[in-house]
Amino acid sequence: MECIFCKIVEGDLPCYKIYEDKRLIAFLDINPVNKGHVLVCPKDHYLNFLDTPVDLIKDLIVAAHYLAAAVTEAVGAKDFNLGINNGKIAGQMIDHVHFHIIPRFTNDNLHPWPGKTLADDEMKRIMGNIKKLV
Ligand code: 5GP
Ligand code: ZN
Repeated sequence: MECIFCKIVEGDLPCYKIYEDKRLIAFLDINPVNKGHVLVCPKDHYLNFLDTPVDLIKDLIVAAHYLAAAVTEAVGAKDFNLGINNGKIAGQMIDHVHFHIIPRFTNDNLHPWPGKTLADDEMKRIMGNIKKLV
């Protein structure tokens, strides 16, 4: 298996493991955005968020909820970002689904999600197109 995270799950590659249960593992990111940057992933290999069964997504969310509290306290952060880079265009480098927990500190100079302003008619068109599918 070529997947780096599968190798970590199997114990064939080392990691700074902070948590493990039957279905999940969590470990420190090797190139942390901030100290305490943690990755939470299922032990089974799924490519991305939408490929992952919903019951496993629920497990991941519950673990991320529990771990985010511990991680932020451990590194002295109050806030954090929680997210998934889903697909190459979105910045996904490892094709094994994982949540990032990124502790945030005052003046840490990270500026995610710059906002755009869209015209009212475009917002309405987008809303309508999405609502047709949900
Ligand atoms: P992605 O871009 O796929 O959402 O995030 C992949 C993350 O995995 C990156 O933040 C990267 O630093 C981290 N990473 C890549 N290779 C390794 C590794 O071998 N070990 C650990 N612990 N993290 C890794
Ligand atoms: Zn994998």
